[in-house]
Amino acid sequence: MDRAKEASNAMGWGRSFLKGVQGGTWARGHYCGYNEGMRVIIDLDLCEANALCVTEAPEIFHLDEDDQLHLLQEHPEELLRDKAVAAVRACPKAALTIID
Ligand code: SF4
Repeated sequence: MDRAKEASNAMGWGRSFLKGVQGGTWARGHYCGYNEGMRVIIDLDLCEANALCVTEAPEIFHLDEDDQLHLLQEHPEELLRDKAVAAVRACPKAALTIID
């Protein structure tokens, strides 16, 4: 049984979920959806809210007044790729991932 079917069965999800999984990607244990171009993922368990990613890519990341990091764009346009990559590289906690 492939990984998508295992996940679907384990979670009790139906065919529509399985169909979505088969069109998507898995990374770090997260399902990454359909191929919609670049996708940015924050691992909030690792994030220490130092805002280095916000400095590199304020169009993509926002740190609120409670030091909670938010994604402003989950699927940034290709024009922002260099900034997204710079943010990933700047993160000292390796809390950011880009999936293509
Ligand atoms: S650079 Fe990394 S640790 Fe810092 S706020 Fe961004 S995701 Fe969190």
